[in-house]
Amino acid sequence: AIGLHGITKVFGAAAPALDSIDLHIPDGEFMVLLGPSGCGKSTLLRIIAGLEAPSDGVVAIDGTDVTGVSPRDRNLAMVFQSYALYPHLSAAKNIGFPLRSAKVARAAVAEQVRRVADILGLSELLDRRPAELSGGQRQRVALARAMVRDPGAFLMDEPLSNLDARLRAVTRTELIGLHARVRKTFVYVTHDQVEAMTMADRIALLNAGHVEQVGTPTELYDHPASVFVASFLGAPP
Ligand code: ATP
Ligand code: MG
Repeated sequence: AIGLHGITKVFGAAAPALDSIDLHIPDGEFMVLLGPSGCGKSTLLRIIAGLEAPSDGVVAIDGTDVTGVSPRDRNLAMVFQSYALYPHLSAAKNIGFPLRSAKVARAAVAEQVRRVADILGLSELLDRRPAELSGGQRQRVALARAMVRDPGAFLMDEPLSNLDARLRAVTRTELIGLHARVRKTFVYVTHDQVEAMTMADRIALLNAGHVEQVGTPTELYDHPASVFVASFLGAPP
């Protein structure tokens, strides 16, 4: 489980980007962080990942305070909007890269790469370089690379925003299927209500650095806690 306790982030003299966020994300949950541009979603995700330090508050993973722990020691995988594959490396080498860097033996790397490629339907594409793949296939390679170290949780920041509408819909369905198969915790950032409503077990709706409401898509839609929630989800207040 991921626990956020009083997470506050202040950049310079501006109003806090995050103002005392409390959130509990149980193991295996598909949690969507939803909210308008600038509300603090990416900052919160980066704080969970350890890429950014909170000004105040505690991040806990499985009950252990990891606030000072480096990103690579948190056993989390992060997938960004720009998935930054190595252009000169094959899909297989891109996927295996985190293991090679960790000095895992060649045969074990190959086996892990085959395993995740199989899960994501990439087995036939492993010899291709990123330039020879479609946007959606590249997206899956990035996802495979995130999966290869068998992380405890996946953190994703608008991972579909570079895809066209059709691929976005396909990949959305694939991610839901992937979550059902691997049963890992997903923390997924988006500003897209439809994405949130279709993918989330629960949504945390953020507004100007605080959590407006946390609940299942149905709870938020049927029982919005504020006018903001109602209008953001398009439900009548
Ligand atoms: P978007 O949907 O546009 O990606 P977001 O919800 O991810 O928005 P954040 O990127 O978390 O928003 O930013 C939250 C607030 O913090 C914004 O007001 C932003 O300008 C500010 N901010 C983020 N990073 C920094 C930084 N490094 N320095 C100063 N201000 C920052
Ligand atoms: Mg963002």
